[in-house]
Amino acid sequence: MPSPACKITVLGSGTSVGVPTIGCDCAVCRSTDPRDQRLRPSVLVSYGGRNILIDTTPDLRTQALRARIDHVDAILFTHSHADHVMGLDDVRPFNFRQKGHIPIYASEPTMTAIVRCFPYIFDGLKKESNVPRLTPNTNDGSPIDLFGVTFLPVPIMHGSQQIYGFRFGAAAYLTDHSEVPEASMEMLHGLDVLFLDALRYRVHPTHSTVEHSIGTAQRLGARRTFFTHICHEIPHAAGESKLPPNIFLAYDGLEVEVDAAA
Ligand SMILES: [Zn+2]
Ligand SMILES: [Zn+2]
Ligand SMILES: [Zn+2]
Repeated sequence: MPSPACKITVLGSGTSVGVPTIGCDCAVCRSTDPRDQRLRPSVLVSYGGRNILIDTTPDLRTQALRARIDHVDAILFTHSHADHVMGLDDVRPFNFRQKGHIPIYASEPTMTAIVRCFPYIFDGLKKESNVPRLTPNTNDGSPIDLFGVTFLPVPIMHGSQQIYGFRFGAAAYLTDHSEVPEASMEMLHGLDVLFLDALRYRVHPTHSTVEHSIGTAQRLGARRTFFTHICHEIPHAAGESKLPPNIFLAYDGLEVEVDAAA
């Protein structure tokens, strides 16, 4: 069944500490180009009036206000690092507005870590004030059907840890990885839009580099590839100008329409 038309909004394109980085006065951290201001990594996937949030960063409140997000229908988690989960408490206003629980999806180790970080959300005890109302769904890598679109968890290696990216229709969002395993490459044919981690130019133990992600992008041959999870070593304009055709740097606020027919 063809997927409905879908829009991806980049809520944050930065690495774990964000850009500008606290205490840094490098050229990128001092840049006046808004594309050099990168909140923590997350995207919103919108289709048919539904909003699916991938990860809840420590910047979620700012990101939701900036993108004027007024409801969230489900949340998918890639992994449990602080830059991807620590904004979870900020979903409360969505609960107030929606008057219901929000389903969240995470692998077993990621869900365990989320419950450990936010025990008060999940302990079932009566509270004196509001806590997020969430329905936890532990996912073992099986496809997740959300309102007519299938989100396929794509295993990726984040250093020695296996985490998940997601493919949905003709798009895939693969943040935080040092390597895309061969078996996962097979899950990524025929993409219109691909997001890949590209932290910086220098090698890092748990993140891909610009050069490595150019190789991944060229092997997969998506119509458009966007790099994300970018640190302050890459200035947007100069960095993007050196990329091959059809490969771009994501930036906060970028909206990409996905061609469902790709
Ligand atoms: Zn991260
Ligand atoms: Zn800097
Ligand atoms: Zn991470």
